[in-house]
Amino acid sequence: MSCEKLWKVGRSLWHKSSKSAAPLWSSAKVQAFACGGLASRGLNPTDPPSAKCCQSATERDASAARVSPAIPPPPSGSNHRLQVVGKKRGEDSLGVSGRSFSSTAPKIDTKAYLWSRYNEMKRLVHDLIPPGVCSLLNPSTIYANNEVSLAEVDIYGFDYDYTLAHYSSALDTMIFNKARDFLIEHYKYPQGISKYDYIPNFAARGLHYDIQKGLLMKIDAFHYIQPGTVYRGLRPVPDEDVLQLYGGTHHVPLHQVSAPFPLKGPKMKQFMDVFSLPEMTLLAVANDFFISNDIEYDPVHLYKDVSDAVAMVHIKGYMYKWIMQDLEKYIVRGDETYAVLHRLVSNGKKLFLITNSPFSFVDKGMKYMVGKDWREFFDVIIVQADKPHFFNDCVKPFRRLDSNGDLQWDKIKNLDKGQIYKQGNLFDFLRLTGWRGSKVLYFGDHLYSDLAVSVGFLFFACLF
Ligand SMILES: [Mg+2]
Repeated sequence: MSCEKLWKVGRSLWHKSSKSAAPLWSSAKVQAFACGGLASRGLNPTDPPSAKCCQSATERDASAARVSPAIPPPPSGSNHRLQVVGKKRGEDSLGVSGRSFSSTAPKIDTKAYLWSRYNEMKRLVHDLIPPGVCSLLNPSTIYANNEVSLAEVDIYGFDYDYTLAHYSSALDTMIFNKARDFLIEHYKYPQGISKYDYIPNFAARGLHYDIQKGLLMKIDAFHYIQPGTVYRGLRPVPDEDVLQLYGGTHHVPLHQVSAPFPLKGPKMKQFMDVFSLPEMTLLAVANDFFISNDIEYDPVHLYKDVSDAVAMVHIKGYMYKWIMQDLEKYIVRGDETYAVLHRLVSNGKKLFLITNSPFSFVDKGMKYMVGKDWREFFDVIIVQADKPHFFNDCVKPFRRLDSNGDLQWDKIKNLDKGQIYKQGNLFDFLRLTGWRGSKVLYFGDHLYSDLAVSVGFLFFACLF
């Protein structure tokens, strides 16, 4: 499809959308920034109250006040139009935009209305955009982001792993091999699994895994399984088989699509960071081995074992050790890292770092990528932050590390430049720095762990 045709499709969509009610994007946008709307609540309605962000009551009220006007009212001029006929004030109050209405018309079911608008827009997208058109997008092209004005951003925050530091595929191979061998040595999985090597590009970030069925797949934003993306082991599952497996539909109910932190959903796990690539591949090859050799097994046990094996690689610090022993092999270094940080600071911007990795590891990598004075770029450095709990729980206090990396016992009253802090929480971070709002932009690679910055405390912007 030519660019011109794509433009026409977009224009047509816009016209069809704008003819009726308030634009859907406005409500979607608000949900993404509302506390718990996406990361801690929207994806899984079964989340316990503890999953809520640590906003103060005052801030929650303020946020609710900002959110409510964006909920699209029923369209005027449609069948939903309200007629004021002089009933008593307050009767049949609908509460839209803070006003009361009296009406002889049937009550509007807002939920049903929003669902009908959602389905209508989805149908329009399906009708107007031919299948496969998205694959025409060139991944090497730079696309403009019209939502963020960098002129308004004064403070830049960064995650470390896969944000400031990018790792080569050699690291994926090492994680895969170590976890695979751990399965064999400690969980007594069949020796035959050792014949499987890591398969680069087999999996991509964002895929879902059906824990009970042992299927890896792509599920779209509407919770529909994408045809042609379902794999059992290393083999694709025909679309007609997928339909049968899911009761005649490609739709996966919301409550089955789990929130990733922690794993609460009983059926689906979504892999949200780049570190997950070896885990998905190991799941696929382990399934493939049992299926190919006609060995009966429980996919739930397999998932748990693979998950534990990969976690062991991280928990025992193997990954940190490998990288620190051979920075050139595992870190993809580019002069751009220094150039970007230098340019930001030269233009009076403030920088901060919030990472889950330990200081010794970050320090070695940053010295390799940016130089021995890398800390001078950052106004606040926080390591082992325990994201996403850093954003959600607001329990752990900040601790200071001395120059040897040892924990200190003094109470943290300021977050000073030149110091290294450990743990902490977002509430104290905002209180001590005063940084918040649209002047703060945070870069991260984890769609939920790092996005929690924006949904947890109104409002950092986040880029991935
Ligand atoms: Mg990261």
